[in-house]
Amino acid sequence: MSVVHPAYGVLRAVTPTASVMLEDNPGSMTLDGTNTWILRAPGQAESIVVDPGYEDVEHLTRVAACGPVALILITHHHPDHVQGASWLAERTEAPIRAFDPGLCRDAKPLAHAETVTAAGLDLQVLHTPGHTDDSICLQLDDAVLTGDSILGRGTTVISSLGHYLDTLRLLTTIPDATVLPGHGAELPDLGTVAAEYLAHREQRLDQVRNALVQLGPDASARQVVELVYADVDKSLWGPAEWSVQAQLEYLRSS
Ligand SMILES: [Zn+2]
Repeated sequence: MSVVHPAYGVLRAVTPTASVMLEDNPGSMTLDGTNTWILRAPGQAESIVVDPGYEDVEHLTRVAACGPVALILITHHHPDHVQGASWLAERTEAPIRAFDPGLCRDAKPLAHAETVTAAGLDLQVLHTPGHTDDSICLQLDDAVLTGDSILGRGTTVISSLGHYLDTLRLLTTIPDATVLPGHGAELPDLGTVAAEYLAHREQRLDQVRNALVQLGPDASARQVVELVYADVDKSLWGPAEWSVQAQLEYLRSS
């Protein structure tokens, strides 16, 4: 007999305009699963769906059952966010918009600082590269949908550290916003979370800088890991090496 997570398949209101439907796809990268956000203005029938998740028909059927969909938005190109978008678009006849033109359907790509107006809602688009080049955040009233740029817990995988640090600096300037993440639970204050992430990343960069002083400027990622992560379980050295490699690239290019 399988145990069903109580949150799966249940639409949960988080703010007056944002509710979440958790997809049943838990994993090391997806935490409890993908958060599909359903945004609806008070008194409106139509909604905006952000990140339909995988092509998981059971999940998508539940999302479609929440009412008519005016627009589907995608926070970035990873399949746990976008794969089910075409299925939902066909079912609901809603266009799909994303920063990456290749993901769009019957609509143009999103632009930084654009205001998206649909289903009686206004959303501000923020281009926030770092997790991926095409990552965006969406500001809605006193909340920000952060995709995988900021998760409900832990740290996110990064493709460009330089871009990610710039993104964190941008997010620290948004005051008093609830974080509505792509995975994990909502968080009370985006500015505080982004500042903590930034401090954490800068502390790690300082450790790598100090390691290079000891090891010499041409040290390998592995050598840095063996020094900086000496007191950390060796099973974590593999992932740490990827992150140190990104830090070395950043330090050597700046
Ligand atoms: Zn994801």
